[in-house]
Amino acid sequence: MISEKMVRLGTHKSVIREIFEYSKQRAAQIGAENVFDFSIGNPNVPAPSSVHEAIKELLDNKDDVYLFGYTSAQGDADTRAAIASDLNQRFDTSFRPDNFYMTCGAAASLRIVLEALTLPGDEYIIFTPFFPEYRVFVEAAGGTFVETRTDDDTFQIDFDRFLAALNSHTKAVFLNSPNNPSGVVYTEESIQHLAKVLEERSAEYGHPIYLIADEPYRELVYDETKVPYLTKYYNNTLVCYSYSKSLSLPGERIGYILVPDEVRDSRQIYAAICGAGRALGYVCAPSLAQHVIAKCAGCVSDLSVYRENRDLLYHSLTDYGYTCVHPDGAFYLFVKTLEPNAYAFCEKAKQFELLLVPGDDFGAPGYVRIAYCVTSDQIRRALPAFEKLAKEYQKI
Ligand code: PLP
Repeated sequence: MISEKMVRLGTHKSVIREIFEYSKQRAAQIGAENVFDFSIGNPNVPAPSSVHEAIKELLDNKDDVYLFGYTSAQGDADTRAAIASDLNQRFDTSFRPDNFYMTCGAAASLRIVLEALTLPGDEYIIFTPFFPEYRVFVEAAGGTFVETRTDDDTFQIDFDRFLAALNSHTKAVFLNSPNNPSGVVYTEESIQHLAKVLEERSAEYGHPIYLIADEPYRELVYDETKVPYLTKYYNNTLVCYSYSKSLSLPGERIGYILVPDEVRDSRQIYAAICGAGRALGYVCAPSLAQHVIAKCAGCVSDLSVYRENRDLLYHSLTDYGYTCVHPDGAFYLFVKTLEPNAYAFCEKAKQFELLLVPGDDFGAPGYVRIAYCVTSDQIRRALPAFEKLAKEYQKI
C-alpha cells in the first residue's frame, strides 16, 4: 500500500498544468502558431543581461566546488548578505543575512513555513482568488484551509468577511500582492487596517497571528503602483519570495524565506524553518543560482512587454464586452466568464483555440485567468478569437 493522498495529487494535475499539457498536444496537431495558450505563468521576457553576465563570470572564474557544491543548509552567506543589503536599500529596513533562508522558489518557501508553524487544529486564512497550490501546501502541513472572499467588485479585502473568518485557531493569514490571479495590489490603507486587526486579535487570543507575505510578483507593477512592504506594517510577518518572475528564472528554483528580528520569538521561528527545511529535504538551494543572486539581487527583467500586453488585452477585451478588474501588477487578467460555468466557458474558448484557466480552483467560480506573460504578437493574433467568443454569447 502507498499513500492514496499522494497518488491523487500526482494523477490529478493542477488545472493549469493540465491545460498547459493540452496546449503542447494541440500545438503538435495544428501548429504552435495556431494555439493561443494563456494558461501558465511562465515569464516570456528574457532574464536581464546581468544574469547572463554573472553566470559567464562565475563559470570563468570559480571552481566547480564553489559553483556546484553544497552551500550551508540555510544558503550561502554572501548570497544572504546581498539580499539583506538590497532590501535594506530599497525599503529602509535593517535585515541581516541571518534573517534569510534560501529555498527552491516561493513554493518551497511556503511549504517550509507551513511545516515550521503548523500544529494540529491550526487554520490559515486565504483571500480569494488565490494561487491554487496554497490548498495543497496548507493541507500537506496538516493545517485547515479557510477561504475568505474579498470584495466582489475590487478583490480588495472585505473586512466583514475577514473578521468572521478569524478565530483563536487562526495561525496565519496569507497575503499575495500583486495577486495571482487577479493582478490586484492590496492598498496601503487595507494593509494598515489588516495589521491593526491582527494585532488586536493576537492580543485577544494570546498568541501571534502571522502574516505570510507571498511575494513572487513584488516587482511586477505598473503605473507607479506601490506595493507596501509588509514587515514595516506588521511585526509578525514572514516573507516568502522567489526570483522566478522578477528575474525570469522559474526553472532555476531560487527564492528565500525572510524571518525579521521583529517577529515574536524570531530565532525560534528561524530554527523551526531550518528544521522544516531539513525534514522536507529542502536544504541547500541550488548553488549556482544562489551565486547568481549574490550578484544580481535587486535586478529586474524588462517588464515593459507585460505592461504593453496588459494594456492591449485589457482595452480590447473590455471593448468586446468582457469585464474584469484593471490589474495593477503581476501578469494575469481575471475575467468574468460570459456564462456561469467557467469550465463550460473554457471549453467554448477551446473551439477558438484559446486556452484559458477556469477560476474555480482559484476560489472564484465564474471567472477565467488569462496569463499574459506571452509575446505581444500572440495577443494580437488571439484578439479576433476573443472577439468571436464574445459574439457567440451575444447571439444567445
Ligand atoms: N505563489 C504564487 C502566488 C505564484 O503565482 C507562484 C508561481 O506561479 C508561486 C507562489 C510559486 O513560485 P515558484 O515558482 O517560485 O515556486
